[in-house]
Amino acid sequence: TVRVRIAPSPTGTLHIGTARTAIFNWLFASRYKGKFILRIEDTDEQRSKPEFVEDIKSGLAWLGLIWDEGPFFQTQRLSSYHKAIQQLLDQGLAYRCYCTSEELENMKEIQKSNNQAPKYDNRHRYLTAEQREAFEAEGRKAVIRFIINEEQEIRWNDLIRGHMIWKGTDLGGDMVIARVKESSDQLFGQPLYNLAVVVDDIDMNISHVIRGEDHIANTAKQILLYEALGKTIPYFAHTPLILNKEGRKLSKRDGVTSINDFQKMGFLSEALVNYMSLLGWTLSDSTQEIFSLKEIAESFDLERVNKAGAKFDWDKLDWVNSQYLHKMPVQQLLDLLIPYWKEANYPIDINLDLQWLERITILIQPSLVRLNDVIRESSFFFGENINYSNEALLHMEQDNAMDIIQLALAKIEKYPILNEDEIKEIISEIVKTLKVKKGLVMRSLRAGLSGKLNGPDLIESWSILNIKGWDKSRLKNLL
Ligand code: GLU
Repeated sequence: TVRVRIAPSPTGTLHIGTARTAIFNWLFASRYKGKFILRIEDTDEQRSKPEFVEDIKSGLAWLGLIWDEGPFFQTQRLSSYHKAIQQLLDQGLAYRCYCTSEELENMKEIQKSNNQAPKYDNRHRYLTAEQREAFEAEGRKAVIRFIINEEQEIRWNDLIRGHMIWKGTDLGGDMVIARVKESSDQLFGQPLYNLAVVVDDIDMNISHVIRGEDHIANTAKQILLYEALGKTIPYFAHTPLILNKEGRKLSKRDGVTSINDFQKMGFLSEALVNYMSLLGWTLSDSTQEIFSLKEIAESFDLERVNKAGAKFDWDKLDWVNSQYLHKMPVQQLLDLLIPYWKEANYPIDINLDLQWLERITILIQPSLVRLNDVIRESSFFFGENINYSNEALLHMEQDNAMDIIQLALAKIEKYPILNEDEIKEIISEIVKTLKVKKGLVMRSLRAGLSGKLNGPDLIESWSILNIKGWDKSRLKNLL
């Protein structure tokens, strides 16, 4: 059975790369009716924060990536890691290394001056009991290193990248798997990433490890750990990174990296998930681009994930988001827009004005790309006073513009509430009386009523304003 996991470290908010990896894992689990597991890798106690755990959980939930098991926390699993470390020590596959940081630095310096890649030279691999005791007596703290056989080549069949080979000489020497806290009796303070991940993936019966390609070197090391512990090696799949326009790894400088920022920027989670699924993955023989997670899951497979990095394209994301907004049922959209109007403190009563707001929603729906465009697109509906754009002010200086406004105002006074036909009637009466073009009348009224030269349907906009009496006050203000 398929069991996959996402294993974020709570040292920051839910990163977009982690979210994309989570999407691929979720899709894979869903496609093969497997389980999707959430594991929090919080062994870095200094940098891990509970608020980041909350951010990760809420971000995944917002995206609809609900986990079947977990969250499991590495800090609650220390005894499992200690058991594995003890096993490796007992088998003679791991040892205590007492090198100081100065010694390790020196080693690196010398390697650098000889143009060699930095690696641990395994100097404490075969210490005698006396040497160990001497180091302990000096008060040196040990790390546990796992023996890496450099002659060996590590091979695996990556489900995205195909056949992979990693040389044992390229692993940096015997690998630190834990730090010993106090003395050597105080077993084994801090397990390190690779050991903890392998023990977790074994204990959690993970069948497929799907993660970012920045972990490829770790995979080679982890395979050696599986072999040493005598456990079955899972399948591995390394997803390409998300890149910015320049082709570098997407980072904070590119605007956002945290999923919650996308929510604040007015993206819908469905749209973001849709876009990110297609980022680096394609449905063959199809030009369809708007899909729900469930629809993608029906045909998701790892073979169709691209090997090359995927460029993050804001315009495309905006387009996908607008597709969702434009097709959304009006009631649902209204519910999403209300918080923005509340926040803007417009002079309305959200509860009493629901129908009125619904008319605005229908009118502006086609021009929304992100949810928070709502203010730009609708602010002119609210209040007696509005800001006039420079173009609108210039227009008002044109011949006839003020005559049109004056005439319109006189006519509005005659009606308590204007309906659509009455508005059309007023417009054609003005055309007749002033002997001007209809286009000019429409433009002048739009400028006078909305302060802009462009916008949604004028008749409907006017009718909406008329309900509040704001059409009258605005035209009056112009005189
Ligand atoms: N904590 C690691 C990360 O956030 C997990 C990598 C893995 O999936 O094994 O990158």
